[in-house]
Amino acid sequence: MRNLARRLRRNQKVVALFVFMLLLPAAAFAVLIVRGMRTERLRVEDENAQRRHQIVRLVEADLKNWVFSAGADGAQADALLSFEVRDGRILFPRFGLSLSPEDSPQQRPFDSGPPEGRPTPESIAQQYFPRIDAFRRDLALGRNAGAQYFPRLRAIIVQAPGTTQGYVVNVATVLAHVNARLADFENRESGSGKVWIREARTSEPPPNGFALEGFSFFEVTFDEARPTAAAWLHGQVFPFSMSLLVLVTVLGSVFVYRAISHETRLSRLRNDFVAAVSHEFRSPLSSILALSERLDRIQDTESLTQYHRIIRKDALRLSALVTRLLDFALIENGKKVYSRERVDLAVAARDAIDACRDAGRPDRIRLLGADDPPRWVQADPTALHHAIQNIIENAAKYSPPESPIDVQCHSVNGSHAIDVKDCGIGIPAVEQGRIFDKFYRGRHAAALNVQGVGIGLALVRHIVESHGGSIEVVSQPGDGSRFSLRFPKAGA
Ligand code: ADP
Repeated sequence: MRNLARRLRRNQKVVALFVFMLLLPAAAFAVLIVRGMRTERLRVEDENAQRRHQIVRLVEADLKNWVFSAGADGAQADALLSFEVRDGRILFPRFGLSLSPEDSPQQRPFDSGPPEGRPTPESIAQQYFPRIDAFRRDLALGRNAGAQYFPRLRAIIVQAPGTTQGYVVNVATVLAHVNARLADFENRESGSGKVWIREARTSEPPPNGFALEGFSFFEVTFDEARPTAAAWLHGQVFPFSMSLLVLVTVLGSVFVYRAISHETRLSRLRNDFVAAVSHEFRSPLSSILALSERLDRIQDTESLTQYHRIIRKDALRLSALVTRLLDFALIENGKKVYSRERVDLAVAARDAIDACRDAGRPDRIRLLGADDPPRWVQADPTALHHAIQNIIENAAKYSPPESPIDVQCHSVNGSHAIDVKDCGIGIPAVEQGRIFDKFYRGRHAAALNVQGVGIGLALVRHIVESHGGSIEVVSQPGDGSRFSLRFPKAGA
């Protein structure tokens, strides 16, 4: 967490750029998309409602047409019972019955249930006629539009306006007809819509029901649309593509952020590198300048030898630094070429140790297994020498002056390896993956003011990998580090 806060603080400009240029627009975009999706959903819902209204109007027109049609396709053809109105009397020609309102029974016929089977003269007189009478009275008062439903009769009584012909149709027949037409209008096989009769006294109108005008006892209800897979997919294309767009934008933003922060880090490392190189040059140069100014005043040979030794050491240090920088430049430009020779790894290790052995503490750097048989590898001798020397110098730089440094050659599978082990400050786990990056210097290296410019391990890795080998580090902060360089064995 602290690490993150520190990184954010360090990259304030990048973070601000990231937030204003990418994150905020992406968030605004996401909000627009969500709103767009809601509008789209409302539009689809509205479209559905309009379509349903249209279907209901079609059903209604068809029903009117069918109910009042006297033709063979009309409801009359399916009627249970036909009647005729003449001089205030109701005639039932098929039964030879003629009834007037005075003939209506005194009982309350509307309490009786539907008559069983086909109408009979008795059921006509007792049950159908009183309802036809009531229907006609309602018609005269304008309470129905020529058709009326009687729940107990389970039938509809119809008389087309302006005619004297009337009939009674079983409600099941009407529902079957109207539901079939609804299915046609909806263009479906087993449909979502259904026409049903609402028992005005007992049933509540459903929230999504449409009552038919003029036939208010009929209601059309639609199930909540259960979309088909194709329709569902079609409906998801917009949200899917929008989500994909947001995802791509966010991933792109993260990518750009990482690229920018990587660039920023590299540029900071480069600046540190330039500062470190200048510093590395300045100290031996100052020492050489100061000593050379005093040289002509020196009388005794002992001081002269000492001055000579110091100047030579500083000059060698400068020369090594220049060699390293030139090598680095060649590698960066992809122009570094390595020669190949048969080299004994143990001999290369001994030479490198000799090159960097402290004059004052000859036992500090120990070559273990010096008498082992040769371990031949194909390598550029100078590059190999530099690589091993670099690792040993690092071991010396990052460990206490009196602590031992062990160098050992050994063989693993098809490779010969050289291990350099120190008992120094060690490397934190988070830094272990980055120390091989160019310009990278560990936190302790900078804090303890240890000499260096941060390209040594990058060079070593390049050398080792160019020889088909590998480099590994095992380190524990406070306990020390072990670097292993592996090279393929040379053929006999
Ligand atoms: P430098 O010039 O800083 O030594 P290098 O590329 O040689 O650059 O090393 C990179 C970093 O790896 C060093 O700054 C240091 O933090 C870490 N490092 C390398 N070798 C050791 C070691 N033997 N012990 C501890 N840290 C090491």
